Amino acid sequence: MPSLSHPATMQMYANAMVTMHERWDSTVESQRRGQFENLVRQLADMAGIPAPRVIWGSAGGAFDFAQWSLEVDRRAASIDPRVGTGAQKTPLKDWLYFSTSIYHEMRHCEQNFMILQALLASKFPMPQPMTRAILPGGDLPSRVAAVMGFPILIVRRASIVRAQFSDHDIARTRSWCESMWGRYGRTRNQTYKHLDRGGRHMNKYVELPEEADAWAVERQVSRLIRDLIGHRLGNEALDGLAGLFA
Ligand SMILES: [Zn+2]
Repeated sequence: MPSLSHPATMQMYANAMVTMHERWDSTVESQRRGQFENLVRQLADMAGIPAPRVIWGSAGGAFDFAQWSLEVDRRAASIDPRVGTGAQKTPLKDWLYFSTSIYHEMRHCEQNFMILQALLASKFPMPQPMTRAILPGGDLPSRVAAVMGFPILIVRRASIVRAQFSDHDIARTRSWCESMWGRYGRTRNQTYKHLDRGGRHMNKYVELPEEADAWAVERQVSRLIRDLIGHRLGNEALDGLAGLFA
């Protein structure tokens, strides 16, 4: 099925990022925000998922399934990525981080939609702790929306847009669902609590099934952008950036 993990989708995004980088001088921040908002819609179209509402913020970026919104760090449109000519290349590094974070968060959006599609098509049972909480009455989409906290319009879309699930798709979608809503939900909450206290549990966080997947996708997008920038601007433009793509 079409997906944000498909190489063509990643390539489209990487090309757009490099074009934005090249035309930085001839654009202003509001135009770049518009470009990112268009890109988010394009990614959603390519993946066959409802586009989340984009909110410009300052906290790195996050997808909110209950609001179906994507918080995007405004620095993605404001940091001039070309001024870092010294050894550190900090602006380019930061800009790459914020712009690839958008793709990472969009992958979370897709994961959530896949969970809904799989549950509504009965590809796997509702996660255990939730099954008990389901109230009788109503059709399956309204019960899923009520218990899991998704907007009902998104759940209804997922019930209409049927996806082809391979066995591999079912297995990984189930692992995300179990991590976020099922029997591993407690481990996940503990991991986030520790992360909030100072980030010493970063390794546990990136090992969560949904995070391991989103980081793998983000790394591939980062590599594509790095290769394109290296090709067009010369590899010296990438000096000092190696750590970002490890
Ligand atoms: Zn993530």
